[in-house]
Amino acid sequence: MKISLQHVTKIFPSRNKKSGEEVIAVNDFNFDIPDGKLIGLLGPSGCGKSTTLYMICGLQKPTGGKIFFGEDDVTDLAPENRGVGLVFQNYALYPHMTVKQNIMFPLENLKGADKLSKDQMMERTLEAARLVQIDNLLDRKPSELSGGQQQRVAIARALVKMPRVLLLDEPLSNLDARLRLQTREEIRRIQRETKITTVFVTHDQEEAMSISDMIVVMKLGVVQQIGKPQDVYDDPVNLFVAKFLGTPPINVFVGKIAGGKVYIGDDAVLDAPGVADQEIYVGIRPEGFVLDPNGAFHSKLSSVEVMGRDISVVSTNPAAQTPLIRSIINTDSKVDPASETVSFTLKPSKVFLFNKETEERIRIPE
Ligand code: ATP
Repeated sequence: MKISLQHVTKIFPSRNKKSGEEVIAVNDFNFDIPDGKLIGLLGPSGCGKSTTLYMICGLQKPTGGKIFFGEDDVTDLAPENRGVGLVFQNYALYPHMTVKQNIMFPLENLKGADKLSKDQMMERTLEAARLVQIDNLLDRKPSELSGGQQQRVAIARALVKMPRVLLLDEPLSNLDARLRLQTREEIRRIQRETKITTVFVTHDQEEAMSISDMIVVMKLGVVQQIGKPQDVYDDPVNLFVAKFLGTPPINVFVGKIAGGKVYIGDDAVLDAPGVADQEIYVGIRPEGFVLDPNGAFHSKLSSVEVMGRDISVVSTNPAAQTPLIRSIINTDSKVDPASETVSFTLKPSKVFLFNKETEERIRIPE
């Protein structure tokens, strides 16, 4: 099921009568979510991710704009009539019911033509339980399950009605690191198997990048960029997106363009032919540094951290926006931990230039 968001906006009225400031939680969101794909809605706390999700499921009504499921305008449709499955951060399972009863619960409320027989309900419940691999736990109560198992029950409960759309709001937040990893892979597998169009809300860029077909990066209610995770990482449209994606994060420097060259401090680190002289921010991905004694970029060596396959060279530079610069270097390259300075050449594809005022990307003409 394709989901189409057209100029979707949500404004919350002010709670404080004096200040009178309303909150624009989501501002003119436009996106056609392709059928059968998993979309990661990503951004810092308060950027409007959850509000967008709640508008898709019908728990919040847009102030403006339209939402379509396929050809159906669902903007004014009640949540129960949209055919959505919703999973929250807090699984909210019924504690007095068994796993089986929890999963079956939504089916018991079906009315009219949708009403199912006891056998049909049991069949659907077993199918959903099998899909999330908890069919051996059906008689347990939620308190007898691990966090990951509880979350699977919540997913099975969302799937049992065979929703047209699956919506997940930070579904992994309450799990420990290992379970998060395992459960996110499970969600990916389930989504691939069912091919249900899925929207997954998270503030964790790594999580979104790892499982999404496409990511939507939001800031203050405004969509910044939409694309395949790797494409957005490799080609960010502005400094916010560049900083939001990547671990370790991108290194940002104050710099300038003068005479067709990019300067960080006094170092002319890269050619930028055809770009007007101006103040800029230079973003360099950690993997964009290549150790080179004759390299044009110099920094003061702080430490060398061995990470197995790679090493992390940590250094400082007065133009850097963060106290430490992190570069990831292949272990084939040697760096003397005793040396005072370290020199690099930069991989042009890993260096991004941004206008200092607007923080929008500056592209070097081909
Ligand atoms: P988080 O990751 O913290 O859940 P989010 O990106 O999901 O954040 P939203 O919950 O969508 O963000 O909130 C977006 C903005 O709208 C925030 O500024 C928030 O304070 C505001 N907001 C959300 N719900 C309401 C409401 N019911 N009334 C007023 N303001 C609200």
